Amino acid sequence: MSLSEELFRRALRVSPGGVHSPVRAFRSVGGTPVFMSGGGGAMLRDVDGREYLDFCMAFGPLICGHADPRVREAVVSALGRGWSLGTADPYSLELAELVTARLPWVQSLRFVNSGTEAVMSALRVARAATGRARVLKFEGCYHGHADAFLIRAGSGLAGQPEADSAGLPPAVLNDTLVAPLDDIAGLERLFQEEGQTLAAAIIEPLPANHGLLPQRAEFLQALARLCRAHGALLILDEVISGFRLGFGGFAQASGLVPDLVTYGKIIGGGFPVGAYGGRRDLMELVAPAGPVYQAGTLSANPVAMAAGLATLKLLESGEAYRQLEALGARLDAALGELEGVTVQREGSIFWLCFDPAAGPALPLRTPRSIPAGAAAAFKPVFHGLLGQGIYLPPSAFEVSFLSLAHEESHVERLAEALRHTFGRHAA
Ligand code: PMP
Repeated sequence: MSLSEELFRRALRVSPGGVHSPVRAFRSVGGTPVFMSGGGGAMLRDVDGREYLDFCMAFGPLICGHADPRVREAVVSALGRGWSLGTADPYSLELAELVTARLPWVQSLRFVNSGTEAVMSALRVARAATGRARVLKFEGCYHGHADAFLIRAGSGLAGQPEADSAGLPPAVLNDTLVAPLDDIAGLERLFQEEGQTLAAAIIEPLPANHGLLPQRAEFLQALARLCRAHGALLILDEVISGFRLGFGGFAQASGLVPDLVTYGKIIGGGFPVGAYGGRRDLMELVAPAGPVYQAGTLSANPVAMAAGLATLKLLESGEAYRQLEALGARLDAALGELEGVTVQREGSIFWLCFDPAAGPALPLRTPRSIPAGAAAAFKPVFHGLLGQGIYLPPSAFEVSFLSLAHEESHVERLAEALRHTFGRHAA
């Protein structure tokens, strides 16, 4: 028995599913999760001493790679000053000033401990600002695990919402509406009927939690226009895309101006940080400036702030994004010729959709357009790559990430391993 298998048996006794976040358990790919002991650069190391070229990258925060020495130095130096102050402090100020100086749509922001908290709090602000209860989200978009967001649509706009989780109070089902992506006419109908009841619409402007589903600019602009016309706030959830597609994330790349925006992942450099921010008049509603309560014992933790600041400083000049885009272009070229896999990529985010049947119309923009066989087809590929020392996120619908620690040779290695895996399964 491998050490991973032994540890997993123990973990199952003390934690649900043996893990602390569901995808880590390998349920959707089968087999035993690999227990990783650490990482450096583009590599992960498991407890049995094997090394893996990592394209999961902790699901997005590690844009500089594992244990980047520059981020590490900032963290070690922060540790020397004490790791929790619970006071006003200069470190969160520096990070907040950097973000607000560079991102004009963030006039004011509040640090929290996760993307979930950021989104949950942004919705509370939107409800307070509008005096309305309901929120509109989109099929396939993930916004963390607060009750209001764990719901997707039934069929079509008129369908009863259905919950993705047990344990949600029924009122939540009434207050969350779900619309399909990439459907302007549907959106117009929905706003016509329900627009006046909406506190906010929230969207991942680059949906990256059900595969990678780039949206047409017209669709996002229609959403912004409808929100404005009906007095609903527009919340862009940039937990993945923020500081990833460019320093200003999707908002900067598209010119789309959110009322509120949420960040996570990269903003904490791999430590538990989320942030919500936006228009000053809205953020002034947050306690103690205003009546919307939101607090946190560990919020703006100084070690996490140091990691976030060091990471954002490495990204600030824009050179990092040019490097990542060049590597992404190499990935397109290397994987482009492979049959049976569709590559959707935006900057350093990529998604491999494995489809044993004929290629679908591209690009895929909605969860419904993903070929039905994609999840089943992913399993043998995932394990084929794992056996060759390559770690993809352990789900067909999670996106992969390039980091500044990845090199062209890594991309070539992925292409070669895929070729090898396909060859074996075809044989
Ligand atoms: N929003 C988006 C777009 C996300 O991708 C995630 C997490 N992957 C979240 C919110 C929730 O963030 P967290 O897991 O830090 O709570």
